[in-house]
Amino acid sequence: MNVFKFGGASVKDASAVRNVSHILSLFPNEQLIVVISAMGKTTNAMEEIVDALWKRDEKRYMELVEDRYQFHLHITGELFPEPHFYIYQQLEQLFEGLKARFHQPVSDNFNFEYDQIVSLGEVISTMIVEAFLKEEGHATTWADARKLIRTNHEYREGEVDWAKTSELINERLLPELKMKRIAITQGFVGHTSEGFTTTLGREGSDFTAGIFAYCTNAKGVTIWKDVPGMLNADPKWFDHTVKLDKISFKEAIELAYYGATVIHPKTIKPLQNKGIPLYVKSFIDPHAEGTTIQESTAYDHVVPSFIFKMDQVLMSFTPKDFSFIVEENLGDIFQQLAFYGVKINLMQNSALSFSIVFDRSKTEPMRLVEKFKDQYEVRFNEGLELVTIRHYDQATIDRVTVDKDILVEQRTRHTIRMVMKNK
Ligand code: ASP
Ligand code: MG
Repeated sequence: MNVFKFGGASVKDASAVRNVSHILSLFPNEQLIVVISAMGKTTNAMEEIVDALWKRDEKRYMELVEDRYQFHLHITGELFPEPHFYIYQQLEQLFEGLKARFHQPVSDNFNFEYDQIVSLGEVISTMIVEAFLKEEGHATTWADARKLIRTNHEYREGEVDWAKTSELINERLLPELKMKRIAITQGFVGHTSEGFTTTLGREGSDFTAGIFAYCTNAKGVTIWKDVPGMLNADPKWFDHTVKLDKISFKEAIELAYYGATVIHPKTIKPLQNKGIPLYVKSFIDPHAEGTTIQESTAYDHVVPSFIFKMDQVLMSFTPKDFSFIVEENLGDIFQQLAFYGVKINLMQNSALSFSIVFDRSKTEPMRLVEKFKDQYEVRFNEGLELVTIRHYDQATIDRVTVDKDILVEQRTRHTIRMVMKNK
């Protein structure tokens, strides 16, 4: 058994879907569970639909639903020239149901409504892809992840019940797979014990692949992406990126922690626990080597990695009564920061002040100043960047600090982190 995952970009239009069929044909003898995301930017579009429902904006709701319907019809139009093909009826039913939902009773739990609606992006995408694969002669079955992955009741952040999920996958999916070679299923979704749909958090489809692999003791997981593998930096910020050929689970978790976004961080743990390797490969060039993520740390230091976070704020808190920064006031500061939902990217303290770095886009700095100003002198600097280099040397540091002033620097044996601004 192998698990494949195709993200939104790999099914964003008809030719992308054809390419998925081509990739599967390269593995004629493998039993496969294929996890698929919503097509293109559909999840964002579904979020807007929920927003319109919540605001009771009927006109916008209907327009948005119709727009998603047309988006998918455009893709099916290219894939299935026969106008009476069954997929058209399925799509019509699904979108009629979604339109009718506007006039049905709405729960007072936003996150619940969100999951019932946003999950449909994955349902539609897998319906279309599976129908196409069948037409192409693949032995497929459509598996409903909303009946296989059991979570708690934390809508939008469902926590997996591993024992129950394993039981469901082994009892319901594996017998099907003995008859059909390929199961097509949805990323990102699950269900509660009452059968309501949950989701696993944005970008959760990688994690779904990890769940299926864990529960079936798969040989490996392959994530097919539009990049050749895991790169040592985001090409958005860096001209000469290098592919990481082989890294450890531990290194992948470190990189994700510092902000690398190639793989959803939750994906690693179940794979590491069972020693299942994770491959990141290019759907544009499926024969190329890609990246292997596995147990051994022997290769981690070969290539230095760079993680950039832009638009950062450095904020420092100094107690007004000139007291030292000690456990008591740190406890107080942390408690308040957690209460206001601040996600700290880096922190540092001295005798009289405590400093944090966070994303400007997630927290408005003046709002924090307001909250803390009675007890603390609060100062901040914005428009900064935070760079983390794993497995650094002086040359890599010189490379990123050209024309920069360094405001904070933290160094350990393998990692250096610098908060910088343009000179
Ligand atoms: N479709 C979901 C999202 O965009 C899940 C995923 O693609 O991983 O967040
Ligand atoms: Mg995605």
